[in-house]
Amino acid sequence: MSDTPILIAGGGIGGLVAGLAIASSERPVTIVERAGKLEAVGAGLQLSPNAVHVLRGLGLEKEIRAVAFRPEAIRIMSARSGKDVARVPLGDVIEQRHGAPYLLIHRGDLQNILLSAVEAHSGINLRLGASVRDAKQDEAGVMVNLETLEGSDHLRAGALIGADGVWSTVRRRVMKMRQAAFTGRTAYRAVVQIDDVPAGWRNCTGLWLGAKAHVVHYPIRGGAMFNIVAIVQEQWDEEGWSTPADKNKLLPRFADWPKELVQLLDLPESWLKWALCAMEPGDIRVEGRVALLGDAGHAMLPFVAQGAAMAIEDAAVLASCLQAADDVASGFSEYEEARRERVDKVMRTASDNDRIYHLGYPASLARDAVLGRITVEKMLSRYDWLFGWKAE
Ligand SMILES: Cc1cc2nc3c(=O)[nH]c(=O)nc-3n(C[C@H](O)[C@H](O)[C@H](O)COP(=O)(O)OP(=O)(O)OC[C@H]3O[C@@H](n4cnc5c(N)ncnc54)[C@H](O)[C@@H]3O)c2cc1C
Repeated sequence: MSDTPILIAGGGIGGLVAGLAIASSERPVTIVERAGKLEAVGAGLQLSPNAVHVLRGLGLEKEIRAVAFRPEAIRIMSARSGKDVARVPLGDVIEQRHGAPYLLIHRGDLQNILLSAVEAHSGINLRLGASVRDAKQDEAGVMVNLETLEGSDHLRAGALIGADGVWSTVRRRVMKMRQAAFTGRTAYRAVVQIDDVPAGWRNCTGLWLGAKAHVVHYPIRGGAMFNIVAIVQEQWDEEGWSTPADKNKLLPRFADWPKELVQLLDLPESWLKWALCAMEPGDIRVEGRVALLGDAGHAMLPFVAQGAAMAIEDAAVLASCLQAADDVASGFSEYEEARRERVDKVMRTASDNDRIYHLGYPASLARDAVLGRITVEKMLSRYDWLFGWKAE
């Protein structure tokens, strides 16, 4: 086993999980994170059983359950009629089916749990306030060029993992790959107190389908808070997780939606917005001793709620490929092979949902009729390939 650390660029969900998974095979890891402090950016995350399985393997399930919420179902509703279209049972049904729960969690809560585990691990060195600027690989390792608060620095690593998110420097500067493209969809995000929302929405994920827009809402923070995401089609393209949004510009987009939903959107004092970017399926993700992971490798529309889950899965697979391989490059190439087909399928599912969710009238009527006729068993089995995945 080499003593030269594996360097991970990015201490987001993917980078932290990768650090823990790789260090569990006693390989030293350095995580380099641009932010000086890991703050709770973003809001809610749906963690499906495939992701929970990996987190369980790292010994984190108990802590995660303590701050998460386990919903009873996904309620799919029509923005046009205000009525329920279909219901996908979760709760015990999905937990028994896949051996792990479907959970809803605040992104900051998950990040804190991962961060504590990373800080407690003697084999992981977390370096905050340093960005990967560039890197060059040779036969024995990778020389990584860093930008720090004091100026610049260099680190020698056995390999470089780019877990530096949708605007990845490793992807652009080291792998010379094209960036993610703006999709013409913006996610508006807000969090409110659960007591302020209708009782019927407090134990499930709600998904409202409307023309050129949809809304997702669900409880987080053990059921104390309520996460709202409104997705609209519009041409706005700025980078960043936390651009303040003007509620007075958002609300008119939903003026003809059911009154209850408009009231919900009117509740938050402040909204943040995020221009959604995506990459094409099929991009290469490794090159010798450099590999991409999570959004850096395959940013996708969040319309199947799997971006973080795929980053978590990537981390588990990458760690086990590294452990099994004789050398880093062959471990990385096994990882790419192992991930390509599944990640591409998830990306295509997200793009298909983009089209299906935003259908206008009358196509939406046909969609709702089809959804309404699907049996519960069929509804569940459609996602077995996704939620039933387990790391080897
Ligand atoms: C509206 C919305 C809803 C979503 N809902 C879900 C959901 O329900 N379920 C789900 O699974 N996913 C969801 N996602 C997707 C999920 O948020 C992302 O896929 C996930 O956060 C990607 O994790 P990551 O670790 O790859 O990247 P990130 O979380 O973006 O982390 C990248 C890290 O790298 C750091 N960094 C950047 N550049 C550098 C550099 N050069 N050097 C060092 N560090 C650097 C950044 O500061 C950051 O900390 C959603 C996304 C959106 C926008």
